Amino acid sequence: MSHGRVLVIDDEYGIRTGIRDILELEGFLVEAVETGREALAAVDSQEFDVILIDFRLPDIDGITLLQAIQSRKLNVATCMITAYANIETAIAATREGIDMFLPKPFSPDDLVGVVNNLFKQRTIREQAERLRLAHEASLLALASEQSQTHSLVESLRDAVMVVNRDGKVALVNCAMTLLLKITETDLLLKPAAEILNQGAFIPLAKALSDRTAEGRSVFDIEIENHQYMVSVTPFYSANHEALGHILTISDISEVRRMAMEKSRFIRTMVHELRSPLGAIKSVLEVLEDRSLGNEVTPYTNLLERAHMRLNGLVELIGALLSLSQIETQGRTGANVSPIPIDPVVQEIAELYREQLKVAEIDLTITVEPNLQGVINVEDLKTILTNLIGNAIKYNRPGGAASLRVNRSGDVIIFEVADTGLGIKAENVPRIFDDFFREKRPETREIIGNGLGLAIVKRLVERYSGQIEATSTEGLGSTFTFSLPSGRSICSAG
Ligand code: ADP
Repeated sequence: MSHGRVLVIDDEYGIRTGIRDILELEGFLVEAVETGREALAAVDSQEFDVILIDFRLPDIDGITLLQAIQSRKLNVATCMITAYANIETAIAATREGIDMFLPKPFSPDDLVGVVNNLFKQRTIREQAERLRLAHEASLLALASEQSQTHSLVESLRDAVMVVNRDGKVALVNCAMTLLLKITETDLLLKPAAEILNQGAFIPLAKALSDRTAEGRSVFDIEIENHQYMVSVTPFYSANHEALGHILTISDISEVRRMAMEKSRFIRTMVHELRSPLGAIKSVLEVLEDRSLGNEVTPYTNLLERAHMRLNGLVELIGALLSLSQIETQGRTGANVSPIPIDPVVQEIAELYREQLKVAEIDLTITVEPNLQGVINVEDLKTILTNLIGNAIKYNRPGGAASLRVNRSGDVIIFEVADTGLGIKAENVPRIFDDFFREKRPETREIIGNGLGLAIVKRLVERYSGQIEATSTEGLGSTFTFSLPSGRSICSAG
């Protein structure tokens, strides 16, 4: 069995061949050369595990040869064979990284012992190198893991602080420094409980120092009118050793506001549904009890009112469905094709023709020719129906209403105006709110559910448009909204 490859460099024929014979008997593969040049040619063309170098060679001296071999960064163990090793030679060779010396004369056992030792050294060195590389790789992995964790924590919107087992701040993200108004340098490695023992953060300091609390503690705090949810969670090593705590502070103001808005919406909706149902129920009870006698005529009025409330209820349910649809559909992107505006406007005007006549309202329509708007046809119809419907509903006989559509840069501006009842100045900002209806003697008899304008606003905003209202009580109102414009028809050709 081969023990490995050995290169012998010695100019003395007897020694060179002697060494080769002894080592070959031991199972080594041996290459024996006479000169330094031959030696370098051999190391450049073959791989060796051990090199035995005679110090005195005819062409290159042993130290220079050793230097040349070492410069090739081979994984090889080297030994210097020398007849008169002096201290300078030993120092010079050691400096060049020689592994062993074999002084002449030597016995076959000495030789075999040295070569075996050289092999061991080489193996140990190889293993050490492998370990070093593995260690370096794991350090690199650790560093990249740390930097990944850091970027991850930094990118979080929630404020995060990691506190080590000594209670010192080990990591904070930008959101936490902003919330505490303390720089990262002033936070790192400082006692967390001390830093947090101020103002709104005191409950956090308490949660950190509460040694009895083993699990996660969650509570709310308020900072500058913002509601925050705090979580203080201990974390452990694989063998359940406590390593510290992770603190997160999340701004929940918006979530709270939305939850409150939703519950207010539901309360109002229940009220709006209950009140017509109650009215219809009492009409049915009057009928059931025959309270107005057995004749049908006295009930006609009541039945008409019940019918009206029922219609209102159906409309309300329709509006609620539209609202929920708009909410689930979200914002509409560029995938909507532009539509010509004029035909839609004419269709809506036609729809109201009878109603306008009955209400004695004069509607004027002015649409700039060839306009195209980026909106779904049905959505535009819903918007215009609501606004023109209101301009008639909240008007007086003999009053006027107008719809003007113009292009302005990249947007189309729609303006729906009326000379009707107008809106009280303090109510103007609220008219787009869900269920808002102005309570005035003049509007008491007008039927509605307060969702029309809320739907209009949501639809306009779906197409990245904007809507606003101006009004003067008793004189009239103007609603102006914008929509993205498509290419005008004449420029398309
Ligand atoms: P509805 O008409 O069903 O009550 P809307 O959401 O369409 O609901 O309108 C909300 C409220 O805004 C109305 O109740 C009314 O008080 C006011 N309003 C809307 N449009 C006009 C208008 N053109 N003139 C006067 N008031 C209006």
